[in-house]
Amino acid sequence: MASGELNIVVLGGSAAGLGVSHYLLKHYIPKLPKDNGRYKIILVNPSEKFFFRIASPRASLGEKHIPSEKYLFDLKEGFKEYPPDSIDFVKGKAISLEYESCTVTVQATDRSNTTSQIPYYALVIATGSRAQESWYHQSGTTEEVKASFADYQNRVKDAKSVIISGGGPVGVETAGELGELKNGSPGWFSSTPAHKTTDITLYSGGERLLPTLRPAIGQTAELFLRRLGVDVVHGLRFTSTSKAANGKTVVTFSDGSTKEVDIFINATGVTPNSEWLPSELRDAKGFVKTNKQTHRVDDAGPRVYAVGDVSGVGNRTAMCINDAVPAASTNIGRDLEAAAKGLAKPEGPDRIFKLNEKETMVVPVGKSKGVGAYNGTRLPSFAVWLIKGRDYLTSLAGGTLDGSSFKKESKWTPDVV
Ligand SMILES: Cc1cc2nc3c(=O)[nH]c(=O)nc-3n(C[C@H](O)[C@H](O)[C@H](O)COP(=O)(O)OP(=O)(O)OC[C@H]3O[C@@H](n4cnc5c(N)ncnc54)[C@H](O)[C@@H]3O)c2cc1C
Repeated sequence: MASGELNIVVLGGSAAGLGVSHYLLKHYIPKLPKDNGRYKIILVNPSEKFFFRIASPRASLGEKHIPSEKYLFDLKEGFKEYPPDSIDFVKGKAISLEYESCTVTVQATDRSNTTSQIPYYALVIATGSRAQESWYHQSGTTEEVKASFADYQNRVKDAKSVIISGGGPVGVETAGELGELKNGSPGWFSSTPAHKTTDITLYSGGERLLPTLRPAIGQTAELFLRRLGVDVVHGLRFTSTSKAANGKTVVTFSDGSTKEVDIFINATGVTPNSEWLPSELRDAKGFVKTNKQTHRVDDAGPRVYAVGDVSGVGNRTAMCINDAVPAASTNIGRDLEAAAKGLAKPEGPDRIFKLNEKETMVVPVGKSKGVGAYNGTRLPSFAVWLIKGRDYLTSLAGGTLDGSSFKKESKWTPDVV
């Protein structure tokens, strides 16, 4: 840290890292006393682009489905409203955390691979999660995302058989997009596609699709998928895959049966990007041991926080991050204010994060239909199309990039705990 600089290092430039950076720059950093030093955000991300991964089930199929300018954005563009000396960008990956000395080691994601140590005054871990398939996330550079999209499109083009594993929203969305692309929509008086070219089967791995929603919604998703030529199988899980000599994938299931397909897609959840952290800060599943109310990482010393998918707080959705950002950022801001006054902790109670547990999920099934619920109310297919199906929420990505979704400081009343 240059003398007089107080680095707030934010690791990860996606929903959580961008949200906290903007919230602090808008609502806390301008209010902090200047005499202790200059507060500066240092945003570390492996790519100079923000990847709006929510769009990936459709965007991965090519530019004509969703053009890349709708889901890949220059990070710097999102911060141009702030004084230039209030934020620095580092293109790299955190590879270790030395919390006793308050430094993070970062490796550049260019050809040099050079490492550097960045000292921090406050640290926000927002390194997110990666899905099982590389086209659903950006854990490295944007070139890697583009290459995985191109590879996927190549394989999809000639595929005659596809198995998708995972009955959650990503599996259903992927099956819907592939079904419509390869088999088309059904004719007016038909319940199956007129020109089926590809056998596509979705294995839910459980008893129904979309298990966090009421059963009737999963049943409607299944009906819509069948209209796109997608078969749905319940009660079987894949246990392993291997490559056959002919280049196909052999999928083995929990009952010992096997199937050979052109493409196997694993849509069964995510893994936190946390391997670079000391083991004592990670739980058994790899999530950061985060205080679920305050987002502090209490075991890592003062002013260390985790937000978003990597934190294990909430339900690993961007919607949940929208509620987590104000809570976490308020606690970070108040900790900084307290430290500036020489206090060990803020006066009064912390801002407590609360997960909205009402039935909420919006799942397009192809380009014109979809299922879902919002705050406990079931949504008709047309509403799902209007909210998400027509553009995969890409119209909201700009608000994440430039922080306009957090323009106003959200009000809170301290809880009596
Ligand atoms: C296919 C798909 C569809 C989804 N659809 C929806 C939806 O419709 N609605 C919804 O609410 N949620 C949805 N989600 C979930 C949502 O995308 C995530 O909850 C959200 O992206 C998590 O944001 P994040 O900032 O925590 O992490 P991520 O989005 O995972 O971003 C983490 C960032 O950190 C970077 N990073 C990784 N490792 C390091 C490191 N070591 N050092 C520095 N930076 C690093 C990554 O490159 C990335 O930029 C979907 C997820 C997937 C996979």
